[in-house]
Amino acid sequence: MHICVYCASSDAVAPTYEEAARTLGRLMGQRGHTLVYGGGRLGLMGLLARAVQQAGGRVHGVIPQALVAREQAYEEAEELEIVQTMAERQARMLALGQAFIALPGGFGTLEEIAHTLVWKALTASPKPLILVNTAGFYDTLLALFDQFYRERFAPPSWRGLYTVAAHPQEALSLIEGARS
Ligand code: AMP
Repeated sequence: MHICVYCASSDAVAPTYEEAARTLGRLMGQRGHTLVYGGGRLGLMGLLARAVQQAGGRVHGVIPQALVAREQAYEEAEELEIVQTMAERQARMLALGQAFIALPGGFGTLEEIAHTLVWKALTASPKPLILVNTAGFYDTLLALFDQFYRERFAPPSWRGLYTVAAHPQEALSLIEGARS
């Protein structure tokens, strides 16, 4: 399967998050999945891509030209698609991914989660979106989502647009289970 993963570009996060990225990459590679992602070499993104390849999987990066120019592209990817804008990249990742996983990340990851969620709602796409809640990282975001439903900023049915997994193994089981 082509699984699109969103995650941190920071190199300075705690080892528990690095471990989650490596574990997800290793499991994806072992199970024959292809990683679709933002094409970066930094932070969890780079750890994830290397782990996928080391375990025998393929990597398809989609990266804006501006980041390539700043030498942040993962040139070792089997496919590295260079696009002009962030919007173009997001559209390509949504088209290529058969499922979406968000590991912990910062503002870029947050944007990708929100974009994917709204896109799923508007297109009625059945592609799964899983948030990996490593060390409770997404607890505060999920609390904000709860406030959206409680105060009617979003319909409660939107809870069905995403699933929370405790760890990478669970995220993959959810995706593989949804397919069969
Ligand atoms: P952040 O969570 O702010 O670290 O941003 C990471 C997310 O935004 C990733 O899932 C990427 O798709 C995108 N992104 C941010 N920075 C980069 C970068 N230097 N290279 C490639 N993609 C990036």
